[in-house]
Amino acid sequence: MTQASGLHLVALKCRKCGSLLDADPKDVVYYCSNCGTAYELINEKDELVALEIDFALPKKALDAEVVYNPFWVFNTNIKINERDAGGTLGSVVDFIKGKITGGPRPIEKFYIPAFETPMENIKKLGLEFTRSQPEFDTLKKDKLKGCIYSSRDAEKIADFIFLSMEAEKPDMLKGISYDLGLSSPKVVGIPFYRDGTGFIDGIFGIKI
Ligand SMILES: [Zn+2]
Repeated sequence: MTQASGLHLVALKCRKCGSLLDADPKDVVYYCSNCGTAYELINEKDELVALEIDFALPKKALDAEVVYNPFWVFNTNIKINERDAGGTLGSVVDFIKGKITGGPRPIEKFYIPAFETPMENIKKLGLEFTRSQPEFDTLKKDKLKGCIYSSRDAEKIADFIFLSMEAEKPDMLKGISYDLGLSSPKVVGIPFYRDGTGFIDGIFGIKI
């Protein structure tokens, strides 16, 4: 049945423990800090779907208040079907050999910032985290709010990050056909510290 108001009400209670879920109006991920369960609000269905969540332990802990900002993390299996570039065949051969990334490590995961911040920060953080494939220890429970991008939004941002990486390669990219093969979306809270007027992340020390 269609509601005339277009408004939908979702009971913001943790399905596991019954605690009220604390979230901001734009949030699409709700985290229960009582029992550590996370949910994504699937808007088409007005449904809370349980979600895997971790919190990264900082590598560069600072003596400042820590805030966990949400990133979507996907497993990826990148397939380049066609890449039209002004360079030589050499670049194509590199791709076939699996040197898809141009980074220090093959890309196994995409890291997509999902909190409210200018697009230039999303690009900067998404590129650096995805290129560097960070390793960190994790906590199972902390606090998290402010995830404003859904997993579907994050898939689109992953395309943007991937195309940015491809465009930065030294050959002249003209066209590309690819499939990122994204799977197993989860949320990871990445620690950030207040730093003057901005924030600095606790894994790479990137300022935003
Ligand atoms: Zn709960």
